[in-house]
Amino acid sequence: MSEFIFDVVHFARDTDGGLICRCPHCQSIIGVEGEDGDDVRGEQFQCRCEGWLEITANARYIKLRGDDTLPANKGIPDE
Ligand SMILES: [Zn+2]
Repeated sequence: MSEFIFDVVHFARDTDGGLICRCPHCQSIIGVEGEDGDDVRGEQFQCRCEGWLEITANARYIKLRGDDTLPANKGIPDE
């Protein structure tokens, strides 16, 4: 598990109304605390895999339909 705080550039809303994003460390979908994008943009969250992530200030809200899912997050840029 990397201790690096990865950027997350997409988030969405779960069927129960909660905000979700994809953890860049383990790629699982996790819920994040907040009512809307303004609450979560620029904030850091910790996944249950213990990896940290930051939803970037300009992260994009994705409206999910049907079986849509969030795109994979690429953690660290290629070195
Ligand atoms: Zn994770």
